[in-house]
Parts: sequence; C-alpha cells; structure tokens
Amino acid sequence: ALRARDIVKSFGSQRILDGVSLDIERGKVVCILGPSGSGKSTLLRCLNWLAPPDAGEVWIGDERVGVKEGPQSKPVPRSGREIRAQRSRIGMVFQSFNLWPHMNVIENVMEGLISVKGMARLDASDIAAEALRKVGLAGKHTAVPASLSGGQQQRVGIARMLAMAPEVILFDEPTSALDPELVGEVLAVMRGLAAAQTTMIVVTHEVAFARDVADLVVFMDGGKIVEMGSPSQVIDQPSSARLRQFLQRFN
Ligand code: ATP
Ligand code: MG
Repeated sequence: ALRARDIVKSFGSQRILDGVSLDIERGKVVCILGPSGSGKSTLLRCLNWLAPPDAGEVWIGDERVGVKEGPQSKPVPRSGREIRAQRSRIGMVFQSFNLWPHMNVIENVMEGLISVKGMARLDASDIAAEALRKVGLAGKHTAVPASLSGGQQQRVGIARMLAMAPEVILFDEPTSALDPELVGEVLAVMRGLAAAQTTMIVVTHEVAFARDVADLVVFMDGGKIVEMGSPSQVIDQPSSARLRQFLQRFN
C-alpha cells in the first residue's frame, strides 16, 4: 500500500532521517518504536508531506509521489491540491487531537468530507455517523469537544480520519497525551481497526500493543532503522544492544 525508499531529511545541518526504507502492505500494521529524537515523527511527516523529504521515494500503490520525472528525479515542491490529495490517501492522527472547538463532534468529522472531498452535507453526515459508530461514539454527535474526555476526543480524531477513507493511517503517539486510565479505550479502538484490516503505521511507546497487534515492528534510533521484524523477533529477541536497552525501560 505504501513504500518509502531511502528517505533523507535534514533540518539545518542536522540529518534527522538518514536513509529510511519501509514497506507496508495493505491490511497490515507496522509499529515504530524508538527513543525521543530518533526521527519517528519526522518519518511519518515525510510520508504525508508535512515535511517534504530531501531525497528518497514515497510510493502509494504503484504511484510515486512528489518527484520530477526521470532518473535524476528529486522530490519537488508541490501544489496544495496535490498535497491534499496525498493526505487524503495517507491520513495522520496526532498526539494532540486538534478538533475544532466551535464545532460539535459530528461536524468535526464531516468537515474534511465537505471541504476536502467536496461532499454534500447529507452524504457527509451519513459517513461521519458510521465512523463515529466504529469508535464507539454513536451517542455523542452533538457534544462539543470541550465536554469530552481526552480519550473521547482522540476517538473523534480517529473517526475524522476514518471518514476520509485513507489507504493508510499514520498514528503519531496517539495515546501519549492521555491520562493513563484513558489510554485503554483508544488502544481498543485501534485494535478494532487492526482486526478490520485497516492499514496503519503506529508510532507508539505501548510495547504490549505493538507485540499484540503489529505485523511488523520497527526500531529507530539516530534517524535510521536499527531493527525490523516480527514482534517476537524485535521485542522478545532484540539483537542490538540499543534496542535491549530501550526495551528495558518498559519491563
Ligand atoms: P519523540 O519520541 O520525542 O516524539 P521523535 O522520534 O518523533 O521523538 P522527531 O520529532 O522526528 O523525533 O525529531 C527528531 C529530531 O529532529 C529532533 O532532534 C528534533 O529536534 C528535530 N526536528 C524535528 N522537527 C524539526 C523542525 N521542524 N525543525 C528543526 N528540527 C526539527
Ligand atoms: Mg515524535
């Protein structure tokens, strides 16, 4: 569904991603672990062009995005329209929920369908209602974000993304801004999505979640992928000292 090849990204003189390649097949879940500053968020941002890569390739299906034609092709600046199209195929859910405070729950979920996909309100509300049902918020259509718990707000954020029907959903630490007692309800929604064959890349510190749900676990450090494999390989039998040390924190 999505392939990244040799992604390089620097900020100033600092090379933050140093040649990262990653494949995710349709219906699979990839979990990315790694210490703070290892480039996890930057990788997700490169995949959906929030941070255009300096070099490397991003493929969605058999379409290469954001490059000039030809053998010397490099990522190029792109129109807002192209970028919006890419983001509607590769959705992203952030740590902070970024809901519109002045809109109620269902309006938040409908917003992208209307403004990005140009959908009629009636169709958008049907799709939004279905997405809210999937995240267990069928009864909250008219609530305003401020009246919801953090876990509920994040589930609205997930519904907003599901409604757009992206081919891949990128999650950047979706539970790390939540109070501990609210983490479980969001992880439960994500487990449900995984069971329903949603294609997802999840940056997370929830090692138990990664072990249960991931088809592929990736450990990043210093802007590179250090280890990659099945959960039992990567989490239970780490081969590098760096990963062993990282995992010790969670035991
Ligand atoms: P965390 O677990 O803390 O979220 P991360 O693995 O997601 O960390 P990134 O956010 O990708 O790490 O950041 C990697 C490095 O890139 C950090 O040193 C960060 O300061 C730097 N960085 C990220 N975004 C920018 C930016 N827009 N401008 C300058 N430096 C940046
Ligand atoms: Mg991050």
